[in-house]
Amino acid sequence: MSGLAAGLRLAMFDKKVVLLEAHSISGGLNSYYSRKVKETKEKIPFDVGLHALTNFAEKGERKKPLTKMLKQLRLPYDSLELSEQTFSQIQFKSASLKFSNDFKLLEEEVRRVFPSEIDSFRKFVKHIEEFNDLDLNLEYTSARSVLSQYFKEELLSEMLIAPLLIYGSAWEHDMDFAQFVTMFKSIYFEGFARPKGGVRTILELLLEKAEKVGLEIRFKTPVKKILVENNQAIGVELKKGEVLRAKQIYSSAGLPETYALINNENDNHPIGKLSFMESILVTEDKSFLKDNPATIIFYNDFDRYSYKKPNELFDSSSAVFCLPDNYDRDLTSGHGLIRVTYMANFNAWSELKENSKKTYKEMKQSVFDEAHALSQKLLGQDKLNLILHDVFSPTTIKKYTSHFEGTVYGSPKKTRDGKSDYKNLFIIGTDQGFLGIVGSLLSGISMANFHGLMEGE
Ligand SMILES: Cc1cc2nc3c(=O)[nH]c(=O)nc-3n(C[C@H](O)[C@H](O)[C@H](O)COP(=O)(O)OP(=O)(O)OC[C@H]3O[C@@H](n4cnc5c(N)ncnc54)[C@H](O)[C@@H]3O)c2cc1C
Repeated sequence: MSGLAAGLRLAMFDKKVVLLEAHSISGGLNSYYSRKVKETKEKIPFDVGLHALTNFAEKGERKKPLTKMLKQLRLPYDSLELSEQTFSQIQFKSASLKFSNDFKLLEEEVRRVFPSEIDSFRKFVKHIEEFNDLDLNLEYTSARSVLSQYFKEELLSEMLIAPLLIYGSAWEHDMDFAQFVTMFKSIYFEGFARPKGGVRTILELLLEKAEKVGLEIRFKTPVKKILVENNQAIGVELKKGEVLRAKQIYSSAGLPETYALINNENDNHPIGKLSFMESILVTEDKSFLKDNPATIIFYNDFDRYSYKKPNELFDSSSAVFCLPDNYDRDLTSGHGLIRVTYMANFNAWSELKENSKKTYKEMKQSVFDEAHALSQKLLGQDKLNLILHDVFSPTTIKKYTSHFEGTVYGSPKKTRDGKSDYKNLFIIGTDQGFLGIVGSLLSGISMANFHGLMEGE
């Protein structure tokens, strides 16, 4: 996403740009694939990442991340064909909070469940509103420590931080307060929506635009090496052997991954530990949704939220449970979809895969079994009429995105100004510090604007 956005911005201003993509299709962590139903051979399309397009904004709303992004890429708002979420839910062992695209619902819920904290909540919200999370020079501050200054009820802090951690923190247990604020605004203030055709809608728009502005895209073209001379990036060597010289290089491969492409340098850029696995369940119809209107449930078995790389293959004590059909809630036709995401341990899955493909498959089946049982529990259904399911693990994420250890939220070290140790080499996307679909698109836009267009390159 960030690579496409940066490429589009530069090409719009007549720069000669080539976008090099290792995979055969675009999207990276937000790509797509399909699976066939064995019996009927029907092909079912799946998104890899998309649960929610965060940062919802109404058409015409100014200065919102979503509308800024669309304006910069010259895409009409209506082309996204967005449907808003119904509501989402943070469901812990002893409490549950709902939120929607109307912030008043969350405030109401906090007042209902934690009446003694409502004044602190309002003060906290004011602090968030006044905080400049876009300041590129901010140092790391623990979000949990800021929360503890405001709230006496630990459960409320845990519940507020959980969706923000699982939707974007590269740090275990905690996150940088600047990123917390960015995520708080994008999830609680602005909220969730979904394009009608899922991630394909967004990618098709970007690829169409690429053709219009003359952005060259080469698929199945992995970069083998970033070439440097006198602390300056001068080009890339492709795996196919070709060398391309360039005035500037923008890398969305990730920070440690980018440095590894320069003479195998990767000494001081930690690899992010957070990876996930997802089970996708397809049902014959959508009747089970009639009494289950929530779009996303941030589920946790306990009152404390454990956000870390699990010691075991995966951690089923918490999950993100997504019902994408509840965006437009047209329940009259088509199959139903349930997505269950668990935190997972890349190394354990990788070892398993190397040692025994059979056990790897069996363990994936047991992840599905857990996801299936959780779905039945949360949906209050004894039987879900499943016609297909699929499970992907952190090793799949590594295979298709080249991210070390299948990391999804990148390195805990972020380069907020996009600069690297090498002149003309810039970091964009997740490891510049902005992620998710809207975040990574804005990262590509802002870095291209700043380093490629404003600085007179
Ligand atoms: C399971 C899951 C669920 C998610 N859910 C959501 C969601 O609901 N909403 C949301 O907004 N976001 C979601 N995300 C996160 C979102 O997908 C990412 O934050 C975003 O896609 C990051 O974009 P990026 O530009 O930083 O890079 P990436 O998506 O990581 O793309 C990097 C690209 O670089 C390519 N590449 C890497 N190395 C090389 C090389 N050497 N040569 C050539 N190409 C290379 C890769 O193939 C890839 O296409 C989810 C992600 C996952 C995995």
